[in-house]
Amino acid sequence: MTNITQVTVAGGGVLGSQIAYQTAFKGKKVTVYDINDDAVAAAEKRVNALRDSYKRDIQATDEQFDAGLKNLTFTSDLNAAVANADLVIEAIPEKPSIKHDFYTSLAKVAPDKTIFASNSSTYVPSTFAGDTGRPEKFLNLHFANQIWLMNTAEIMGSSQTDPAVYEEIVEFAKEIGMVPIELHKEQPGYVLNSLLMPFMGAGGMLWAHDIADPETIDKTWMIAMGSPKGPFAIFDMVGLRTAYNIISQRQGDNPQAKPLLEKLKAMIDEGKLGQESGQGFYHY
Ligand code: NAD
Repeated sequence: MTNITQVTVAGGGVLGSQIAYQTAFKGKKVTVYDINDDAVAAAEKRVNALRDSYKRDIQATDEQFDAGLKNLTFTSDLNAAVANADLVIEAIPEKPSIKHDFYTSLAKVAPDKTIFASNSSTYVPSTFAGDTGRPEKFLNLHFANQIWLMNTAEIMGSSQTDPAVYEEIVEFAKEIGMVPIELHKEQPGYVLNSLLMPFMGAGGMLWAHDIADPETIDKTWMIAMGSPKGPFAIFDMVGLRTAYNIISQRQGDNPQAKPLLEKLKAMIDEGKLGQESGQGFYHY
């Protein structure tokens, strides 16, 4: 058992609302902090909208869902939000300037005891450790979208993170129903994206260079590896816009990737965005 009972989630967007609700669902007291009243109202709406998913996907009853809601409060007052926090989980936009400013402000108001954890997908903790005023109590705790189902929590410290703090966050991840994925050192992309991005890129290149069509590439992987999904089903799940942005960031300078980026862009322009639009490489 950890000593973490009061958790503040900063940023109630797509991931922050999920992290906040899952943590409250598992019995912790959670405060959601966002920048202004409109953002707070939007966060509250996102949390309430999770009811159907919890009922459908993990057979939660209305009573269980409501019990989770009772553990949540929402505020746009940072001082009040963190006054008694054992842990702040930061899920604000993936823009370094916003995160630098946030940690600088947070460091001034959070009690000494508070551990800070970032849900950043692409920045390693040493990027912001200097702003926190407590690098030994700072690390990354990275969740996947649809946290109640895709329940990995990748845990990555910097060289300054106290091993005891790291261990406490591993235990906390278990307490909120996650499978902790422990990284021994900093790695952009953690474990999952370090595997997934090259895999999707390799599948995409086979298609873009006209070696085989998407169904054939997926079928090959699924039959030969006994896997439920191939790379193109994953493209549809991640969403073609996000996939396009990631591939252009990672491989924008690689001439071999140009046909892939062009073909993805053409699909995006036609509104084929993946599962979210009902069509990508497959129909939904
Ligand atoms: P989002 O845009 O949906 O939500 C961001 C939230 O932060 C909004 O509610 C916004 O009002 C709020 N915000 C903006 N500035 C703020 C500030 N200064 N202080 C407090 N709140 C502020 O973003 P998201 O997709 O939830 O991503 C948030 C973080 O989670 C990013 O670091 C991202 O890399 C990470 N992440 C996202 C996903 C995903 O699938 N979306 C998955 C894993 C990790």
